[in-house]
Amino acid sequence: VKRPPEGDPIALGAGAEFDAIRAMIVRWGTRARGLGDDAAVLQVPRGDSLVASVDSAVEGRHFQREWFSAREIGYRAVAAALSDLAAMAARPLGVLVAVTIPAEWRQELDELAEGIGEAASASGAPIVGGNTTDGDALSITTTVLGTAFSVLRRDAVRDGDNMYLTGRLGGPAAALRALRGGKKPDLEHRDRLVHPTPRIREARWLAERGAHAAIDVSDGLAADLGHLAAASGVGIEVDLDCVPRVSSVSALDAAASGEEYELVVAAAGALDAVEFERTFGIPLTVIGRARAGEVGVMLSQGGARVANPPGYDHLSR
Ligand SMILES: [Mg+2]
Repeated sequence: VKRPPEGDPIALGAGAEFDAIRAMIVRWGTRARGLGDDAAVLQVPRGDSLVASVDSAVEGRHFQREWFSAREIGYRAVAAALSDLAAMAARPLGVLVAVTIPAEWRQELDELAEGIGEAASASGAPIVGGNTTDGDALSITTTVLGTAFSVLRRDAVRDGDNMYLTGRLGGPAAALRALRGGKKPDLEHRDRLVHPTPRIREARWLAERGAHAAIDVSDGLAADLGHLAAASGVGIEVDLDCVPRVSSVSALDAAASGEEYELVVAAAGALDAVEFERTFGIPLTVIGRARAGEVGVMLSQGGARVANPPGYDHLSR
């Protein structure tokens, strides 16, 4: 049997489904690797752990069609999934993308694939597999695979740790509020919503320099700190006045803003924020401290305790 060169897709059979897959493969080009067989085959560096996560983006639940372009929808879905690899400080090995594509979306398949390819290649993760099916709503389910010699876990925050945040918060919530109100979001806010950056390289930089626990901000800073606190059995005190935020967003709104895909990491000592910002072009900020004792998140602003804003809970309705 004549095999295509290493990394090239294997030839596919006839039919509309395979035409759709072929179109996506063409669009992905070198951003995909080894597609077309029954399963992907990946090399895991000896001694590393395989790190895996899966994430779904569903039309009408995670996004409204009129808010985003197909390209933005594809990008966001894959970027969100890759952010979970960043939260573990894993090196991406590949992504597998399962797309449910209703008839009214078929025209947009090319643009959707472009967004998927853009997010994957930006994080250095080849597309190594996937699936397409018909359905009533557009949905993208992304499986991400990575490797790490040592991972950053949620349950490793310790008494006295400094809590660091990457980047600036508040953009996605402000953009979503505008969209839900039928208004045009501020461009800076919209960009943070439609084009989040999984902090893959940042996470490994932080892990190599002493960070020992992490989470990515997907439900909102306060809520995700709550996950860290619960997993680690510690209290986390955060001064909201220290939380960097985008323009025209209040500190409390920034702490409630989800889908940020910034990282919160814990480190026993100090991390070099100047070097971090020089390397990645975003701030690294101490926002608080972990304490033994009462488990949970204690927010303060102007020296006074403030109530925790609610986080996003997918099954709360
Ligand atoms: Mg996460």
